[in-house]
Amino acid sequence: MQKKQQYKIAILYICVGKYDIFWKNFFLSAEKFFLPQHHKEYFIFTDKKLYAQDTCSRIHKFYQKNLGWPFNTLKRFEMFLRIKEQLKNFDFIFFMNANLEFLKEVNEEFLPIEENLTLVQHAGFYYNKPAEFTYDRNPKSTAYIPYDKGKYYVCGGINGGKSKNYLELIEVLYQNTEKDLQNSIIALWHDESHLNHYILDRNDYKLLHPGYCYPQDQDNIPKYECFILARNKDRYFDTFKLKGWKRHQESKLKKLVKKLIHKKVRTVIKSLLK
Ligand code: UDP
Repeated sequence: MQKKQQYKIAILYICVGKYDIFWKNFFLSAEKFFLPQHHKEYFIFTDKKLYAQDTCSRIHKFYQKNLGWPFNTLKRFEMFLRIKEQLKNFDFIFFMNANLEFLKEVNEEFLPIEENLTLVQHAGFYYNKPAEFTYDRNPKSTAYIPYDKGKYYVCGGINGGKSKNYLELIEVLYQNTEKDLQNSIIALWHDESHLNHYILDRNDYKLLHPGYCYPQDQDNIPKYECFILARNKDRYFDTFKLKGWKRHQESKLKKLVKKLIHKKVRTVIKSLLK
């Protein structure tokens, strides 16, 4: 019997700040379930000391300082370009969000053998029409997508491709995110908005169902067999606080309540004066 080809797989992983909490579980589950017949190496951008970093020679750690939100995710393309030469030695490259956990064996069906890229449909938009997707709608952004365009909404949490093609993607999205930053623009969902823009007119990708990045603790999502779980970060830390969303939304809410109270008071005074 002919021996099956063994591929060299590079996994790109960022865990800066609180996200290092996910590493051990991610690593152990990937070792067990992700393409177990193939050669995997982990390229990790972190500011922490990590489980198995000194014992596993397939773990390559690069110091990455905490850039705060959203730069820890938006600046990913710049981080990856730092190790471009090393990445050229692999057959496939995949980025994986810190909070992913493999629950079942994922084999060659994940690899873009005929295609160039592998993408996963976002569970949260599975039932929506393209005009309802939260693509970036700012015409000034390089990630802009008009309402009458688009077919799928894919997630930024897990994606990759053949080495040459994914390195091309990294290069283009680095240029695009930098151009936006120079114009003081940050696309709505950061790297994810740029990724969705990148694939808009392409058809050279393998599209996997949401079971390959399946959100934990979320209702109203399609029922798919879960191969890769996106662990609920709120079980481990306050994501709203980390992203500065709460304060922002609270102040927005306060303004709205104030406006409504003023409106109500004005109406009452008016009716009294009548
Ligand atoms: N990330 C990180 N530290 C942070 C914020 C983000 O390391 O403080 C990295 C991490 O790899 C994470 C990814 O950026 O999985 C995307 O960020 P986040 O998980 O918050 O985005 P979402 O889950 O909403 O896609």
